[in-house]
Amino acid sequence: MSAQILDGKLLAAKLKEQLIKEITDLKARSGKVPSIVSIVVGNDPSSLSYLASQKRTAESLGIQYELRQLSLQTSESDLLKVILELGHLENVNGIILNKPLPSSINSAKCFDVIPEEKDIEGMNVLNLGRLFIGQICSVPCTPAAAVELLKSSGIPLKGKTAVVLGRSEIVGKPMALLLLAENMTVTICHSKTNDLPGVVRSSDVVVAAIGKPLFVKGDWIKPGAIVIDVGINQVDGKIVGDVDFESCKEKASFITPVPGGVGPVTSVMLMKNVVEVFKQSL
Ligand code: NDP
Repeated sequence: MSAQILDGKLLAAKLKEQLIKEITDLKARSGKVPSIVSIVVGNDPSSLSYLASQKRTAESLGIQYELRQLSLQTSESDLLKVILELGHLENVNGIILNKPLPSSINSAKCFDVIPEEKDIEGMNVLNLGRLFIGQICSVPCTPAAAVELLKSSGIPLKGKTAVVLGRSEIVGKPMALLLLAENMTVTICHSKTNDLPGVVRSSDVVVAAIGKPLFVKGDWIKPGAIVIDVGINQVDGKIVGDVDFESCKEKASFITPVPGGVGPVTSVMLMKNVVEVFKQSL
């Protein structure tokens, strides 16, 4: 058996088409378009190339996008001031605060001053709290993308078992909550888990988000399971996931590739969040 590929590029293209239509309609009704300000501290080349692609994605959808690049010497209080100012601007719908931030800056404090309704990455404590209690909110984009891909398989999720490998605030924990909201029975594994392969073997859905190249092996996968690979790792100049794709695709029913799986959908989910926020603001 060879798994069907859950193609992130294809899904991203479909979602973009829907968003373009929605933004065009909203513009016709209100005369306005959603707008994002993305803040970066410093000039790390890989961050800047990622931000150039973020800008391209936004603008291709008709979303206004401004990159606010601050010097590496920016203090925490200066950064807080910039965020608070943007928070008050009516014509800014979404604020993105890009990591990494200099070690002298308390990043949690900075995320938490982004007004809840402009926090399109779903990273401040209020949005994470809303996710926890199952209220509608901006959801962190990577786990949201993983769920979109999972649903695109067309397989009902209710009542099935899922394992999430990784318990970070940005991926693992929100991922587990989103799967729980789909009425799945969810286990979270981490670096201290005993018999991780055994847990994976009993799971209908496997989401890998640990940052260890090709970690999940084919003989851990329950036949017919769905495998979602969130990992992005560089090995010998190539991007690979946390899942050993070649061996896992022989056991799974559906699997995401890396690259071309969760990644392309993630950036669209960010745009989807700003469109939702913009709609609320009208
Ligand atoms: P973190 O480093 O913050 O968290 C890694 C998690 O994996 C931790 O909970 C850690 O456990 C767990 N872990 C590490 N080693 C093992 C192991 N040997 N066995 C079991 N669990 C282990 O990573 P992130 O959550 O930020 O990112 C995870 C991956 O997802 C990375 O590859 C990252 O590049 C990728 N990523 C992809 C995105 C996308 O858009 N596709 C966006 C964001 C991230 P413990 O808590 O015990 O230390």
